[in-house]
Amino acid sequence: MESISRRKLLRSGSQAIAGGACMGVLPMNAAASASASPATSVDYYQKLGVTPFINAAGTYTILSASILPDQVQAAIALAAQKPVHLMELHKAAGEYLARRLRCEGALVTSGAAAAIKLATAACITRGNKNAVVSIPTEMQGLKNEVIVQKAHHYDYDHAIRDCGARFVDVETLDECERAFTERTVMTQFFNAAEGGHISREDWIRVAHKHGVPCFNDAAADVPPISNLWNYTAMGFDLVAFSGGKGIRGPQCTGLLLGKKDLIDAAQLNNSPYSNTVGRGMKVGKEEIIGLVAAVDWFLEQDDAAMEAEFRKRAAVIAERVQNVLSVEAKIFIPPVANHVPHLLITYDLNRIKLTATEVMQKMREGTPRIELNPSTGGGPASAGLPGGSNVIVVGVWMLQPGEDDIVGRRLHEVLAQNTR
Ligand SMILES: *Cc1c(COP(=O)(O)O)cnc(C)c1O
Repeated sequence: MESISRRKLLRSGSQAIAGGACMGVLPMNAAASASASPATSVDYYQKLGVTPFINAAGTYTILSASILPDQVQAAIALAAQKPVHLMELHKAAGEYLARRLRCEGALVTSGAAAAIKLATAACITRGNKNAVVSIPTEMQGLKNEVIVQKAHHYDYDHAIRDCGARFVDVETLDECERAFTERTVMTQFFNAAEGGHISREDWIRVAHKHGVPCFNDAAADVPPISNLWNYTAMGFDLVAFSGGKGIRGPQCTGLLLGKKDLIDAAQLNNSPYSNTVGRGMKVGKEEIIGLVAAVDWFLEQDDAAMEAEFRKRAAVIAERVQNVLSVEAKIFIPPVANHVPHLLITYDLNRIKLTATEVMQKMREGTPRIELNPSTGGGPASAGLPGGSNVIVVGVWMLQPGEDDIVGRRLHEVLAQNTR
């Protein structure tokens, strides 16, 4: 405060007054219409020449994940109009989310990957504020070993290493028991991992015996809605979810849920605090409000009703393609991540002269553009999704009303055109 001089204040005050005087010379009707007319939306996708597509894939980050429900868009538009104190908003949002999601503490992050990084930072710096500045390079005196099952290594390992942590790999429960040292700071669990011999319950029990917090990455693991509290209730100390996947919040949001002291420690490593590993992972008021509104929206949904709706869409598409020679369609629900009905279409490559990858490419290049699930043709997708050179996977859960019919007709066209 003392750095702002009285003269500066006066000067900016006089500018403000001059500005006001200037406003006064505007014709009254111009001023009135400027404030009364609603903003007209410019279609910036069109302006930039970026063509949107029908999302028959699912909630993939590179495909911009999900579409915000109307009530979330409205909440963001309203929040965007007024400034608030970011720390007050973070605190209030965290308390509200913790209450609704039945855990001690909650933090809105800039994504699940950010939540993983902040979880690690929280475990390393808990009770040691100086360590917030020290990580990830000045690690002397800091615990930094993270125990993980070999089969749980994945594409988000970097978020943990970003904090100066190093992994200690284990395979059996016995190895796990012996892996704890005075340097162990956290255990990492990939909730949707397809391998690994150690159950969640054993994992938590052993770690807690050694007084070490357990983190669980459940980023893509809703629905069911109850998973938002199942894993914290099970005993995981910190759990991450993506905000832009099944919850359908803003793409650049995530949730870190868990024990109060660890959530508080995560917050100290996060934006808006400046000299932290989290400063580059800022969420603004629009994202925070957007995620809170999305959680409210998601909690109003019903697992059975969602599943019935997705099965209905899958049936519409199946009906359109099933009469093409050799085509078979069935519903598949991945076990943990993206646990919703997908349509699996298989066919005889001797009858239809296109690989599934070529079908995906044709769908992508058609009008309208359609993106199939990335596991189509055997491409890398989420854990638990099947694929093969004659396997088309349609993720129906992000389709908008009427798009099931369009996807079905277009798939029929591509397949039928290439039948021998
Ligand atoms: C999608 C995903 C993430 C990253 O989520 P973001 O919200 O995009 O940061 C992390 N872990 C798993 C298992 C995921 O599926």
